[in-house]
Order: sequence, then structure tokens, then C-alpha cells
Amino acid sequence: MSESDSRFSVCVFCGARPGLDPQYVHIARAAGRAIAERGWRMVYGGGRIGLMGVAADAALAAGGEVIGVIPDGMLVREQGHRSLTRLEVVADMAIRKTRMIALSDAFLTLPGGLGTLDELFEVLTLRQVRFINKPIALLNHGGYFDRLLATCQGFVEAGFVAPEDLDALMHDGELDPLLNRLGALRA
Ligand code: AMP
Repeated sequence: MSESDSRFSVCVFCGARPGLDPQYVHIARAAGRAIAERGWRMVYGGGRIGLMGVAADAALAAGGEVIGVIPDGMLVREQGHRSLTRLEVVADMAIRKTRMIALSDAFLTLPGGLGTLDELFEVLTLRQVRFINKPIALLNHGGYFDRLLATCQGFVEAGFVAPEDLDALMHDGELDPLLNRLGALRA
């Protein structure tokens, strides 16, 4: 379990923007709600904006616990969420990632942009070098990550990534089956 207590804590990585198509807001809301309804805690980047704010608000509205981790210098830009169960304000982006990882038992990536990918690859590479052994899931909603997955498969075929290190990334186009797999792997 994560360092705080025995409640299963899922770290959500997702866009600080809402995306152009409303389907992305809908899936982020569904993800936040589903995490809370399963009795899991949500950990995330602590902002009010974009998909991350939507997911956090949905988890809170469903009675869930949400912990945010935000750098001091991002409080204004990402609108630090003051209604969370807990908002941790940290010194910089690197500490934010380290802290989110320490607080979490598993990781769920939703659609997002460069920051989302940075966070996803942080946990994938930490798992690759066996610094962590926590499940990592990618919600390939509407095939959003098809090209990313194909690119990563190309890395495997070229001999730069071990097949098992890419297999560590579980992915599904549907939320509930993905959360079921994540929950089945809880330590
Ligand atoms: P984006 O996918 O670009 O919308 O970003 C999603 C989230 O990732 C935002 O909250 C960013 O602040 C965060 N982020 C971007 N780069 C980093 C980083 N190097 N370390 C931690 N968080 C980051």
C-alpha cells in the first residue's frame, strides 16, 4: 500500500486542458467517479483546471478522498484546488512526481498532453529499472493513444525496449475493465 494507510491509492495523470471534444471531459469525470465509488483514493497534480480538475471534482462529489500535489510555482497557473482532502504544496515539478509516486499504489493515465506523457514515462521507466513495481494503466479512450502505443511497439521491434517492459503498461479502451485489472493487481 501507499505510505499513508491501507486505502488503495490511484494516481491519475491527465491533461491540464479539457481537450477540444467533450468526450474527454466525460471520460475524466467517469474516471474520478469510478475511483471514488470503488472506495479508492485519487492522487493527482492538485489543480482545478482541465481534465485533472474534472476528475478530482467528480471523485469528491462521489464522496471520495483526493490528494493533490502541486508545486508552489504552479498554484496560480494550475489553480491549486483548495477543496481537496489534502493539497500538498511542494517545491518543484520533480518533487511533485516523486511525491505522487510515493503516495500511490497504481497509476492511471487518461488523455492529456506533454505533461501527461512525462508523468507516464516517469513511472514506466522507474518500473523498467525496477525502482517501482506498481501497476500502470493507460485508458486508450477512443483510440487516443493508438499512435503512442504503435510507436512504443516500434521501440520493442527495434530492440530498444524489452517486450516485458512495454507489457507492463496495461491498456484498454474501456474504463471499467481497465480499473478491474488495476484493482486485481493491488498488492
Ligand atoms: P499536460 O498533459 O501537458 O496538460 O500536463 C498535465 C499535467 O502534468 C500538468 O499538471 C502539468 O503541470 C504536469 N507536468 C508537466 N510536466 C511535468 C513534470 N516535469 N513533472 C511533474 N508534472 C508535470
